[in-house]
Amino acid sequence: MAEPFDVIIIGAGHNGLVCAAYLARARKRVLVLERRHVLGGACVTEEAFPGCKVSTAAYVNSLFRPEIIRDLKLDEYGLKLLERSPSSFTPLPDGRYLLMGPEEGLNVREIARLSKKDASAYPKYEAMLERIAHVVEPTLLMTPPNLLRPGWRDLWTAVTLGRRFLALGPAMADAVDVLTGPAKRVLDRWFESDEVKATLATDAIIGAFAAPSTPGTAYVLFHHVMGETNGVRGVWAYVRGGMGGLSSALAAVAKDLGVEIRREAEVRRILVENGRAVGVELSGGKGHSADLVVSNADCHVTFRKLMDPHDVPADFLAAIDRIDYSSASLKINCLLSEVPEFDAWPERGPGPHHRGTIHVAPTMDFIERAYDEAKYGRPSTRPVLECTIPTVVDDTLAPAGKHLMSMFVQYAPYNLRNADGTSGDWDAEKERFADRCIDLLAEYAPNVRSAIEARQVLSPLDLERTWGLTGGNIFQGAMTLGQLFAFRPAIGWAGYRTPIDGLYLCGAATHPGGGVMGACGYNAAREILRARGGGA
Ligand SMILES: Cc1cc2nc3c(=O)[nH]c(=O)nc-3n(C[C@H](O)[C@H](O)[C@H](O)COP(=O)(O)OP(=O)(O)OC[C@H]3O[C@@H](n4cnc5c(N)ncnc54)[C@H](O)[C@@H]3O)c2cc1C
Repeated sequence: MAEPFDVIIIGAGHNGLVCAAYLARARKRVLVLERRHVLGGACVTEEAFPGCKVSTAAYVNSLFRPEIIRDLKLDEYGLKLLERSPSSFTPLPDGRYLLMGPEEGLNVREIARLSKKDASAYPKYEAMLERIAHVVEPTLLMTPPNLLRPGWRDLWTAVTLGRRFLALGPAMADAVDVLTGPAKRVLDRWFESDEVKATLATDAIIGAFAAPSTPGTAYVLFHHVMGETNGVRGVWAYVRGGMGGLSSALAAVAKDLGVEIRREAEVRRILVENGRAVGVELSGGKGHSADLVVSNADCHVTFRKLMDPHDVPADFLAAIDRIDYSSASLKINCLLSEVPEFDAWPERGPGPHHRGTIHVAPTMDFIERAYDEAKYGRPSTRPVLECTIPTVVDDTLAPAGKHLMSMFVQYAPYNLRNADGTSGDWDAEKERFADRCIDLLAEYAPNVRSAIEARQVLSPLDLERTWGLTGGNIFQGAMTLGQLFAFRPAIGWAGYRTPIDGLYLCGAATHPGGGVMGACGYNAAREILRARGGGA
């Protein structure tokens, strides 16, 4: 008897759930199979400590497309975004600090304490990024053109983009710099204060195995300034109840639309007959068939682990093997008895400086030096830290009086190399490295050591094991120019389909890439419906 599914989606990451919901809205019968016991992939809330709701992987949102929130009525399904204002706090070793955020006049006022020149440059810098965002942001929900076999639609997309780009006029030079250059060059041109540059540069290296001096990092910086919260541009937010609040809302709407979601259902094999994907086989041996299979997993997992190489054309497999998964990100989740008290901040107790991201990266050279060691396979002696304490704005996350702190750390290279050239072992190294991160934070907030009641350290290897992220790359593949837009995941295959008939991709491995955006799942659903009939 035929199974009742039109589409099987492998993985219930937030993109898989978005894709499922849109397909179900167009009356497709959808089955989502997730290997973990929780839904949401890297956009998840887990009880890492008893009684606590911890965003174990992704920790802040602004990129999630507002169009999806509106279409799927996610606020009616419990999604609540808690704006972060101020958005960042950088304590400095000499006792000064830089506080930044969306509040009118705050950035100019704060930057002026470090450099009057930079304070007057900042609004112009923001306006420059805004002009480029005006061109780039509409591409997020667009299918990139096929540059190898262009049809009329691809040519039209290319012309539309070209015209938008031309309309930038002289600002085109800025755009090229931002889209291709090193963040350092862009920041050096605009600012003189090292502290201002370092604070802004942290966005340029998130999830990247790169320093601000590496070409392509300006785009990563830019990627993180697109987005909005509750209609306000550039504002980042916590999700109430942790990042899984977004995934739960997506799962709830998908279920209401008729999607069947199964947890602890690991796909072992994508079944192909006569060059066509016809279903999947689960780890327990059970099989499911459907007209289409859509993978939310990254390309290495999809094509190298879940498929027989004979079922994948050799040239495509070669392109997939070229994807750069290098990564140097590590996450530490902590349960605290009190907030970190910073020497640089005069008042005690939870304050505005705890609301946004707390950066420990006081200078550009600090970041560069941290990267230098990672290049040789060594975790940074003095790593770059991005700490967030969501309990300061969300009282649903931890028992009263307790706080949660997320530390996103770079650089922790996936491939560790010992001094004698042998490979290192993250399982042996990670707690020692975490101690170093805490010691570094304690230089600025001495109470942090004694405030930590429990911690969870997720090395790059743990990110791979837990979420199936190849090489621990948090974006399912590096976000460098050669792996973006028409080149993501491979030139000629940026349209969510694959050379295997009936097999599509819908995760961050596709355009527009990593981050909790929902755009990959949305675009994939649109392409599937365009090819197979039905309207979103
Ligand atoms: C530590 C960390 C911190 C981050 N911080 C942020 C942040 O603060 N803000 C932000 O915007 N982005 C952040 N990101 C990036 C962002 O979370 C990801 O890019 C995004 O969540 C990817 O979503 P996805 O649905 O495409 O894929 P994923 O979240 O990777 O989901 C893929 C799903 O497929 C499942 N799967 C894989 N193989 C199989 C199989 N064989 N069978 C069944 N299921 C399978 C996996 O278990 C997983 O649930 C972070 C990522 C990490 C890892």
